[in-house]
Amino acid sequence: MSPQRIALITGITGQDGSYLAELLLAQDYEVHGIVRRVAIEDPEHRLWRLRHLLPRIHLHAASLESFPSIFKVINTVQPDECYHLAAQSFVGYSFEDEFSTFQANINGTHHVLAALKECAPACRFYFAGSSEMFGKVASLPQDEQAPFHPRSAYGISKVAGFHLTQHYREAYGLQAWCGILYNHESPRRGLEFVTRKITFQAARIKLGLAHALPLGNLEARRDWGHAREYVEAMWRMLQQETPDDYVIATGETHTVREFAAAAFAHLDLDSRDYVTSDPAMVRPADVELLLGCAAKAERELGWRPRTMFRDLVVEMVEA
Ligand code: GDP
Repeated sequence: MSPQRIALITGITGQDGSYLAELLLAQDYEVHGIVRRVAIEDPEHRLWRLRHLLPRIHLHAASLESFPSIFKVINTVQPDECYHLAAQSFVGYSFEDEFSTFQANINGTHHVLAALKECAPACRFYFAGSSEMFGKVASLPQDEQAPFHPRSAYGISKVAGFHLTQHYREAYGLQAWCGILYNHESPRRGLEFVTRKITFQAARIKLGLAHALPLGNLEARRDWGHAREYVEAMWRMLQQETPDDYVIATGETHTVREFAAAAFAHLDLDSRDYVTSDPAMVRPADVELLLGCAAKAERELGWRPRTMFRDLVVEMVEA
């Protein structure tokens, strides 16, 4: 019998971290996660996505911003696979606080890479890249060759993390993969993101608990898939022989307006009676259109999306 594989997840408390922990536990991994001390001290609020897994995972308190704390965890855990998902992940906040977005997302990634290089150089590493790196897109659909043109501090920080990861791969031989994941949603998505905001509020309106849904830019187009399937792509990458970069997407794009229309329609309501566009909620620079081509992932990883737009909307409204 081969020894139990050890995985370390940064950002384990988030949407993707929780789905990935489930997937790895189901495959008999020993699963470790890095969390902030405040999360351990406030499990009710900050660990809700992991509640059902807590007896089976190992949590370590550390801060991405502190190299010594990351170094210590990696040195102790000695992971075979490290999934670096932790980040300030909401584009909207990244306009309000560019400095802490860079601090967490760029330095945080650098700290994890540098610690792996020192203490666990054979570990396989996953970097959570993002379609926000393509930003103001130059081609349709975008594949791994599409040029980067980020439109937010978040997007810029992900481009930097992507290059840092490639640098550690090329300069130090780290087995490092970059996933370029398009928007991926689920009932576990935070309420600040537009999909959860819409589905949550539509359900409240249906129940008579709310009466309106003010949004920002309704014409922005996104390629939305299901987070549970996207974490499977991360795992599949790290089972490959040679590190590489992969776009993960559904290959369908829809506007925010269409998402809202589908959510309200599922509740027999007309979104036009409730949704408004508030100019104050429109971002200083927005990504207008994202549409990914995951042909390489299908070819090389055998990965393909199963949940498409309408099923995703319905699952989130029902939740
Ligand atoms: P993002 O693609 O990572 O920025 O994911 P979001 O869910 O935060 O935003 C998706 C798109 O929806 C962006 O183009 C936003 O500008 C647009 N949008 C329109 N109204 C809203 C809103 O009220 N909240 C959020 N978060 N986004 C909105």
